[in-house]
Amino acid sequence: MIICVASGKGGTGKTTIATNLAAALEEPVHFLDCDVEEPNAHLFLRPEMSDRLDFAVEVPQIDLNKCTLCGKCQEICQFNAVAILPETALTFPELCHSCGGCFLVCPEDAVVSTRRVVGQVETGRRGMITFAHGRLRVGEAMAPPLIRRLKQEVSPHGLTIIDAPPGTSCPVVTALWGADFVLLVTEPTPFGLNDLELAVGAARELKLPCALVINRADLGDRRVQEYAARENLPVLLEIPFDREAAAAYAQGKLLVEALPRWRQWMTALHDSMIEALRGRPTGHG
Ligand code: SF4
Ligand code: SF4
Repeated sequence: MIICVASGKGGTGKTTIATNLAAALEEPVHFLDCDVEEPNAHLFLRPEMSDRLDFAVEVPQIDLNKCTLCGKCQEICQFNAVAILPETALTFPELCHSCGGCFLVCPEDAVVSTRRVVGQVETGRRGMITFAHGRLRVGEAMAPPLIRRLKQEVSPHGLTIIDAPPGTSCPVVTALWGADFVLLVTEPTPFGLNDLELAVGAARELKLPCALVINRADLGDRRVQEYAARENLPVLLEIPFDREAAAAYAQGKLLVEALPRWRQWMTALHDSMIEALRGRPTGHG
């Protein structure tokens, strides 16, 4: 089973839920931190890293001995990564999104492939948790391919927990793709609700069952709960604001280790997700 923990925006406690859920379960778990622009699950899970591999994408280089400057590669490139000038051809690898279009259209076989490192994948272990995260180089726009690479680490057996990037754009959709269940972590504020609606839309577009965890549930209004009821979205857990938890979080502690009630909440949350999956369809509206 693949559970993807997502949120419409950052700062809702998504990583707190994902890491504590993984740490609370007494079973083998694959944990993938797909927030490749700002991975931070390792700060809480503290896995012992065993491998670090460069992640490279394919970018074009133009063989000027073969190129006739016909311009077809420039025409197809949506990212202005190729410029055909009257006397030469230029490529801008940092703009390239590795779509492969220019390779396909070149009639002269003049576009050759080179590799450009855009990030790293690190893997490790903490007890029964097999851990992997990706780290995109600053300023790179290649989060989806790195997330796809990370998802090769999904467990073929047992449970995989994916910590998705925040937001609702391409990287999030890449993280959600192929999940069995989406757990959306939100907070009861107007911004939280707006971003939650977008995240629910993305999960439904992919036809994925989803449910909510409402963090700091006692601090805002009831509009998230009302929205959930209207949209037939199960609320699996409401967590009140908790000063002790905030202090433990600030020290990089796992809450399931610092506060016993968190272990109970996380195991109950896991059981609720299993039940919700058995009672499919969930949260399809
Ligand atoms: S691979 Fe795609 S994005 Fe990159 S230069 Fe070629 S057409 Fe443009
Ligand atoms: S499509 Fe091929 S031949 Fe035409 S300009 Fe591009 S590299 Fe040169």
